[in-house]
Amino acid sequence: MIALHRYRAARPLAGLIIAAGAAALVVSLAGLPSGQLDTRFLLLSFLALSVGNTVFVKVPRVRAYVAASDLLVFVAALAYDARLAVPLAALCALAVSLRFSRTAGGHLSGAMLGAAATYAASWAIGSLPAQTAGLQPTAELMLLSVFLLAFTRAAADSVPTALGEAQETGTGAPRAYLKTLTWSFVAYFAAASAAGLLVTLAAWTGLDAVLVALATGGVLHFTLRNRATAAARGAKVAGAAAEASHVALPSAGREVLLNAFEHAQIGMAVVSARGEWVRVNRALCELLGRSEQELLSTDLQGVTHPDDLGPALAALKKLLKGKDTGMDTEVRHLCGADGRHVWAHWSVGRFVAASNEEPHFIFQIQDIGERKVSEERLLHDAFHDPLTGLPNRALFIDHVKMAISRARRRDDRPFAVLFIDLDRFKVINDSLGHLSGDDMLVGVARRLEGCLREGDTVARVGGDEFTVLLDELQNAEEAIQIAERIQRDVSAAFQINGHEVFTTLSIGIAHGAPEYADPEDILRDADTAMYRAKTLGKARHEVFDKAMHAFAVNLLQIETDLRKALDLKQFFIMYQPIVALDDFRLCGFEALVRWQHPERGLVSPMDFIPVAEETGQILQLGEWTLLEASRQMNRWHRRFTSEFPFFISVNLSSKQFAQPNLIEQVDNILKRTSLNPRSLKLEITESAVMDNIDKTTEMLKQLRQLGVQLSIDDFGTGYSSLSYLHRFPIDTLKIDRSFVTRMVDNSENTEIVRTIVMLAQTLGMDVVAEGVETKEQLALLRQLGCEYGQGYYFSKPVTAAEAERIISDIYERPREEGTPELVINDRVKSMRLVPTAQP
Ligand code: C2E
Ligand code: CA
Ligand code: CA
Repeated sequence: MIALHRYRAARPLAGLIIAAGAAALVVSLAGLPSGQLDTRFLLLSFLALSVGNTVFVKVPRVRAYVAASDLLVFVAALAYDARLAVPLAALCALAVSLRFSRTAGGHLSGAMLGAAATYAASWAIGSLPAQTAGLQPTAELMLLSVFLLAFTRAAADSVPTALGEAQETGTGAPRAYLKTLTWSFVAYFAAASAAGLLVTLAAWTGLDAVLVALATGGVLHFTLRNRATAAARGAKVAGAAAEASHVALPSAGREVLLNAFEHAQIGMAVVSARGEWVRVNRALCELLGRSEQELLSTDLQGVTHPDDLGPALAALKKLLKGKDTGMDTEVRHLCGADGRHVWAHWSVGRFVAASNEEPHFIFQIQDIGERKVSEERLLHDAFHDPLTGLPNRALFIDHVKMAISRARRRDDRPFAVLFIDLDRFKVINDSLGHLSGDDMLVGVARRLEGCLREGDTVARVGGDEFTVLLDELQNAEEAIQIAERIQRDVSAAFQINGHEVFTTLSIGIAHGAPEYADPEDILRDADTAMYRAKTLGKARHEVFDKAMHAFAVNLLQIETDLRKALDLKQFFIMYQPIVALDDFRLCGFEALVRWQHPERGLVSPMDFIPVAEETGQILQLGEWTLLEASRQMNRWHRRFTSEFPFFISVNLSSKQFAQPNLIEQVDNILKRTSLNPRSLKLEITESAVMDNIDKTTEMLKQLRQLGVQLSIDDFGTGYSSLSYLHRFPIDTLKIDRSFVTRMVDNSENTEIVRTIVMLAQTLGMDVVAEGVETKEQLALLRQLGCEYGQGYYFSKPVTAAEAERIISDIYERPREEGTPELVINDRVKSMRLVPTAQP
């Protein structure tokens, strides 16, 4: 029996078939020889309609089945008038169709196809010469009849099946038809031959004996089938579908399952306990890039990645033993001829089709390639820097952890961690833009990779910070050689958007030691060494040692103590006079903060300001200094005279300068202290100003609007572009101490000072020379036209009380003829420089 309804392509034919079948029925029923409708025929019909449509044999190679009822219809056609077989064929076909088809159209076309085919066969048999109805046909006649019956049924049934196959597989309809016809004919011919044999047997033994034998066989079949069903109950549902492939399909439900198996979107397979593919569906063939035949000739082991096979087989074994009810796993399959890998998810169940059969597996195999790709991408992203593609900090730490445990096992192969920071990356970023900065980082990353040996790891752990793990070194010296190679390679010019850009590196090296338990520790030490390399002038490498550790610990202590220092009132301010170089008038003071530490004594701002900047405590401290200095200045103004052309310089750190509420803060302090804004001068370092030119200009303008004066500190050390300078509303340039100190014996420094002085004059700014310590420096500065000076030559920073004494000294001392008005110490007085300048 062929399930006609299954194929969409056969549907247009259905009308034709129904008409032909109906005509065949009418003609057969009209001429029905009523005398032959005996009880035997009724028994035969009963058998055909009951047992007959529960026993099927699959037609090989094509998706079609021959039912036992077909055989009985053939018996009817051969033993009785062939016309009697037509309604029986229709009824049997209908009964089978009721099991397989859900649609009324399906039932009708199925029944009518049976009727039409049988009628055609009856008609052909009836047309045979010398045909005598009855029970004694000659052997030739019988053979011919058998052939006709088989051929007409096969020819008719092959139409829808072939159409369906042609549509599904894309083969041509004629070819599919020929294939189906061939195999169906073989099956039907076998059934018709069996029918012929039975009829011949009946001629000898009587039809009753044959019918009784058939009925007994039917009862036996039912009993066995029910037992088998009971045994198979509990087996996986899909197992039933698989079972249907070798055994008869006992119910339409199984056919549905088989259908589901074949057409499932995911790969499905029945696999033997030894791993052989017993049945596979189309989706699985596609997934594994093999034809059904190819696949069935291999086993599970043959198409699974060897690395994944072990655990998978172990899990299957457990499943087989009934320890697990099902299993899920992910494996890689080896696909088709190209041998590429496909990730697949297995859901496996175990089933036993019949009590005497060995257990089988039912596999659902799903292609999870895409999911794996995105999982791998996610995993990659979680451990890599998106810009350079290098490992990130997390992955680096992981590698260091492994290096530590390797080094514990064998100490003859030391390892080292390098912490690398680009010198002046910020300048490159700010001047060429962030995109160029990014290109630069990628370029550096590639060069770093080029410097390393197999097995080393380079990671990007911060904006312009990279780390390198040098594993399995020959000796400690090798790490330094590699660091030098890195310095050399990275310092060569980079071509970034048409610009030739250079950078140097500061590198800290920490050697692996057994004391390191936490990978973070060795990274921290490499960082400390890098920091040291920076402070020692950049473009160099430093190896971490114990002293650095002590230094770092000290730093940590300072940090801790700083937190309490403000509350404990441990800060105070020193004041250093700033004088006019022509007549040594006292013009103002610079406020310099000091920390009176309970144990350490007086701590230099050089030691704690950078720490306070790092921790952000500078904001509070800076505000306090500003308030304190302003208050002091106002006190002096009240005590002496407010007309005094007297200012107080207060340092602002870059962090303070970046505070959005700085303007508000300064304004508040001015109001609280009632200080004349013109008496307050804010010193901002050159590098802080250059860090963010646009923002800075705005901030400087607003400060200027408050009426305060502005000074650029440490001028000459930063990288200020002179073209920007005129844009800033600046009153004063302070020449950095380093130029003044080395001025006398280095003409280059003298030239720098001369240039700064001239620049300031051009821009209408004042110039203050810092760090004036000697008579020679003073003379040279005066010669260069520098107006103001500050330095130990005049006075060291002094306490507020001492500063007040200087002021009162100048004010309250009776003025001598010929001496400058505001001489602040004896040394200056004795120089007798000024009187020459006096009229
Ligand atoms: P700076 O602003 O350049 O201050 C000048 C530094 O040079 C002061 O050091 C001062 O004592 C020192 N100095 C002055 N004349 C001479 C000299 O003739 N020879 C030598 N060798 N040194 C001289 P100090 O007070 O140790 O301050 C160091 C730095 O700390 C300051 O440099 C400034 O950058 C920072 N600083 C000091 N006080 C504050 C503050 O209140 N706030 C902020 N943000 N920074 C401050
Ligand atoms: Ca200063
Ligand atoms: Ca300075």
